[in-house]
Amino acid sequence: MAEDYLAWVRQACPDEIRGRGLGFGGGSKSRMPGQAFEDWFTACLERGFTVPSWPREYGGAGLDQANVERLKRAMREVGAPPPLSGAGPTMLGSTLLELGTEDQKSRHLPPIARGERSWCQGYSEPGAGSDLASLRTRAEDDGDFYRVNGSKIWTSGAHRADWIFCLVRTDMEAPKQRGISFLLFALDTPGVTVRNFDMIHGGSEFCEVFFTDVIVPKADLVGQQNDGWSIAKRLLQFERDSVSQGEFLPRGGSLPDVLKRYAPDDPSARDTVARLEIDHAAFALTRRRAVQESREGGTGTFVTSAFKMLSSELESRKLEAIVAMMGAQGLGWSGDGFDAEELASTRKWLLSKGYLIAGGSSEVQRNVIAKRVLGLPD
Ligand SMILES: Cc1cc2nc3c(=O)[nH]c(=O)nc-3n(C[C@H](O)[C@H](O)[C@H](O)COP(=O)(O)OP(=O)(O)OC[C@H]3O[C@@H](n4cnc5c(N)ncnc54)[C@H](O)[C@@H]3O)c2cc1C
Repeated sequence: MAEDYLAWVRQACPDEIRGRGLGFGGGSKSRMPGQAFEDWFTACLERGFTVPSWPREYGGAGLDQANVERLKRAMREVGAPPPLSGAGPTMLGSTLLELGTEDQKSRHLPPIARGERSWCQGYSEPGAGSDLASLRTRAEDDGDFYRVNGSKIWTSGAHRADWIFCLVRTDMEAPKQRGISFLLFALDTPGVTVRNFDMIHGGSEFCEVFFTDVIVPKADLVGQQNDGWSIAKRLLQFERDSVSQGEFLPRGGSLPDVLKRYAPDDPSARDTVARLEIDHAAFALTRRRAVQESREGGTGTFVTSAFKMLSSELESRKLEAIVAMMGAQGLGWSGDGFDAEELASTRKWLLSKGYLIAGGSSEVQRNVIAKRVLGLPD
């Protein structure tokens, strides 16, 4: 008989953390938001529900995709926060499970599942964002290890992360996609410097990460030397799948609630809310169908680009609509005259500009869909 996840979540998730948008990215530098959250996290950890699809030997529950979706739906229905989020459980974990060595899986996956080690993504560089394969951070082969020099930019949360998965160039002569390798290393390795800076919404999640003669053992090369591009692309699919499920970026509040409070008599606002609610419901159902039809888990391979693009564009439209309905109350930055929710809405709206860029911009997703899904010529 199928397990009743809803009953389990209702019993295990304390009331006071429900529906509050809380989260925990794991790692040695982050704290859980309070004791009740910690109790919830521990209950999930004991069941393998911090990373439910992973095999039990790495800390997961070994659930198939259908059961993972049922569990997540139960958590959403109860308003239970995801016990663990971030680049480790979503992007790197899934990639290592598929493409890592046994040694890499057993060293790296259990600390992620337990929330003890957090990761950041060292892909983008100045001049290598959409055109990622132009990256120039170098790793020289030095016998048993690599020596890494260069820098990364827009590295979300590197100031709080313990480790980085990093794309480096290991062959300067080869065509650009063929000279890239995929390395893992701790951010406290000598020669790594992290500098975080302010974003448009007032937070400081973005970092630059600099590498000077950083020594990385070859045991932490994922895949073959110079074959990192295929691993990088697979990881991006996992990232885009997570974004399309609402991971990583804060979501806007309830549209009907905002309508009722700020624009109850505005017929055009009512139309906008109805259209967005319909689009959100259609998106959720289409994604659910794609997951059910996919044999690989998630929404499949290149189709993830369509889901990432649609989900980030929908969320961005939603936050525009929220701020428009709020009028002047949606434009507060600080001070009297605005409550905490109003101030948070303004900041989320500003941050939502980045939804269309993070994980590969909407234009880049449209290129992928044109080439890989629709089969249009290059
Ligand atoms: C919130 C957020 C979090 C991020 N976190 C990380 C992270 O943790 N790690 C990491 O490595 N990176 C991260 N990034 C960086 C992100 O991956 C890059 O910003 C993105 O890939 C775009 O690269 P770019 O900024 O260099 O812009 P560019 O590549 O210079 O693009 C500029 C504009 O040109 C358009 N464009 C470029 N090429 C094409 C093309 N071929 N066809 C059509 N249009 C094109 C783009 O769509 C964009 O509008 C993050 C970005 C954001 C906004």
